[in-house]
Amino acid sequence: MAAIDSHKKAKALKPTSRRPAKELCSECGLCDTHYIHYVKDACAFLTQHIAELEEETHDRSRNLDSEDEWYFGVHQSMTAARKTEPIAGAQWTGIVSSIAIEMLNRGMVEGVVCVQNTEEDRFQPKPIIARTPEEILAARVNKPTLSPNLSVLEQIEQSGMKRLLVIGVGCQIQALRTVEKQLGLEKLYVLGTPCVDNVTRAGLQKFLDTTSRSPSTVVSYEFMQDFRVHFKHEDGSTETVPFFGLKTNQLKDVFAPSCMSCFDYVNSLADLVVGYMGAPFGWQWLVVRNDRGQEMLDLMQDQIETKPVMSQGDRKEAVQQSIPAYDKGVTLPMWAAKLMGVVIERIGPKGLEYARFSIDSHFTRNYLYVKRNYPEKLEAHVPEYAKRIVSQYKLPEK
Ligand code: FAD
Ligand code: SF4
Ligand code: SF4
Repeated sequence: MAAIDSHKKAKALKPTSRRPAKELCSECGLCDTHYIHYVKDACAFLTQHIAELEEETHDRSRNLDSEDEWYFGVHQSMTAARKTEPIAGAQWTGIVSSIAIEMLNRGMVEGVVCVQNTEEDRFQPKPIIARTPEEILAARVNKPTLSPNLSVLEQIEQSGMKRLLVIGVGCQIQALRTVEKQLGLEKLYVLGTPCVDNVTRAGLQKFLDTTSRSPSTVVSYEFMQDFRVHFKHEDGSTETVPFFGLKTNQLKDVFAPSCMSCFDYVNSLADLVVGYMGAPFGWQWLVVRNDRGQEMLDLMQDQIETKPVMSQGDRKEAVQQSIPAYDKGVTLPMWAAKLMGVVIERIGPKGLEYARFSIDSHFTRNYLYVKRNYPEKLEAHVPEYAKRIVSQYKLPEK
């Protein structure tokens, strides 16, 4: 793998003239295709219509009387799972790659939209339509940067494919669902991951340089349920940094404006969501939204062990205290951050309560961001479920 700082040669972002969402664009790739024609309705940052798309996709919108649904979206079931034989080099245990491979091998789909990396830079995304298990495996592990996954949409049409699996994050899937009927497919499956705090390639470099002891050898990282960032390095070692020790003052502007304005953390419009944040440490979190999602999960039964999801602790006080701390860019000295991490890991929220902690912290922060920077968008852009979540907390007036 070539040196990481070759990201400097990476393609510059496309001119905003081809990006109607301008600085809010998350580079989902739609505008690289002739489907740009539908951008006004499809772009997650121009028209928020998650409830309507939920009805079209899952036959109903989320039940706002159920706390689990306003947090985690329409679902039939939630489970914790892990592969009994994990895929080496996957982000977690490789459930996403395994489902995709199984679907291809069984002929359920003819191709899989996923994202590999460029030869020069392990973190520079290269979306592809995979047609072999090897190509799917080569796309394993997160490219923790904005990725134009939908830029391959025209190739689907040209290839004549009729059955497709798309793997992607919330903003990509909202645009995909809006143009789904135009793609000429007989069957579309969508396998989503949760997503939050994404960055441009330059932003990623700043995060690595500010946070890791060896930025050039990082192969992947994750903000884990034990309140630490875990960096995996080329030599197989793991470095952990407590959340509370992050240099918040320097990192405040590192996240892309799209991601500071995003309220689809849990990928509401996927058929099946595979993440980790609602599961105990070391396990993956599976949310089946509809029958297609269950069909995909059924393929894994002899490859995974499962256990019920659990919930423990009370997040609310910790979230309330984090709001002004984040706003003021407070950074704790490392000894205090480590101590705080140990205490909160022992008594803090776990399982689904950890997921709610993460959703609450991000939605309150993002709500303030939109209110301050795009006040004219606030009312229409923030979905009802997110308004309900934010209203549980006291936010600064301005
Ligand atoms: P693998 O088998 O390793 O497969 C990973 C798949 O992700 C690949 O198929 C690849 O095509 C796809 N992918 C990689 N990068 C991107 C990208 N930039 N855009 C779209 N697709 C991509 N889960 C949580 O529970 N909480 C979070 O806060 C959270 N944040 C995330 C942020 C990002 C940017 C991404 C991409 C994922 C995030 N996830 C989060 C999901 C989680 O990190 C794992 O990806 C998921 O659990 C699947 O693990 P796996 O081992 O099964 O995946
Ligand atoms: Fe176009 Fe996607 Fe950017 Fe919206 S987020 S402007 S649809 S590329
Ligand atoms: Fe898209 Fe939201 Fe992820 Fe940003 S945080 S890449 S806007 S899904």
